[in-house]
Amino acid sequence: MNLVISGPQGSGKGTQAKLIAQQFGLVHLETGKLLRDMAGENSPLGKEVASIIESGRLVPDETIFKLLDHKIDRQTLDRGFIIDGTPRTVDQAVWLDQKLAKNHACIDRMLFLDISDKEAVKRLSARLSCPSCGRIYNLITVPPRRPGLCDDDGSPLARRADETPAAIKKRLEQFYQVTLPVLEYYRARKKLVEIDGQRPIETIFSDIVNRLQSYEYSAEK
Ligand code: AMP
Repeated sequence: MNLVISGPQGSGKGTQAKLIAQQFGLVHLETGKLLRDMAGENSPLGKEVASIIESGRLVPDETIFKLLDHKIDRQTLDRGFIIDGTPRTVDQAVWLDQKLAKNHACIDRMLFLDISDKEAVKRLSARLSCPSCGRIYNLITVPPRRPGLCDDDGSPLARRADETPAAIKKRLEQFYQVTLPVLEYYRARKKLVEIDGQRPIETIFSDIVNRLQSYEYSAEK
């Protein structure tokens, strides 16, 4: 099973993608994290990617294609995968379909986690992450056990550079202008699964699992 998961910033797509990958044994490809790793490299491309991410804009499609072309390898295709963060443009969705078709594969479902703008801003403003391992915390819903420190490695937690109020606003604007048409792309292909993202993490997860299991059964018939 190959999935993509999307939703406004702060919708919890990273959290759900991790749980879904564990449940179904899928490879989890998180484009935001892969790009942040690239941004940490001391190369001209790394610096360019860092400045784009910090401003809340989208990285050019060509960079995403190169990144994913390399990551969606034979092993990933054999296991199945969930991509979190891509496609963010219709061109990325088309590229992904073409890349998979060449390998006799396809995207089976696009999961869309829906939350209001107000909720997105509230959640992102409460978000902290670990610069060493990337684990994400939320001061309201998932606080660290010791204030300001990562539960896993004890590193001091930080706010992401693109989670200032100005960058949050820019990212939400981008989302509605560029990414919403991607939803219509999958709706037209009967692959869209819309999920209410304003419920507790466990409720959302069991809803997704139920809806994917019914897909798996119908695919077997
Ligand atoms: P995320 O962690 O998914 O919110 O991604 C963080 C940032 O990485 C975004 O605001 C974009 O600047 C960039 N990014 C992640 N995925 C993509 C993508 N598929 N296309 C373009 N930019 C992306």
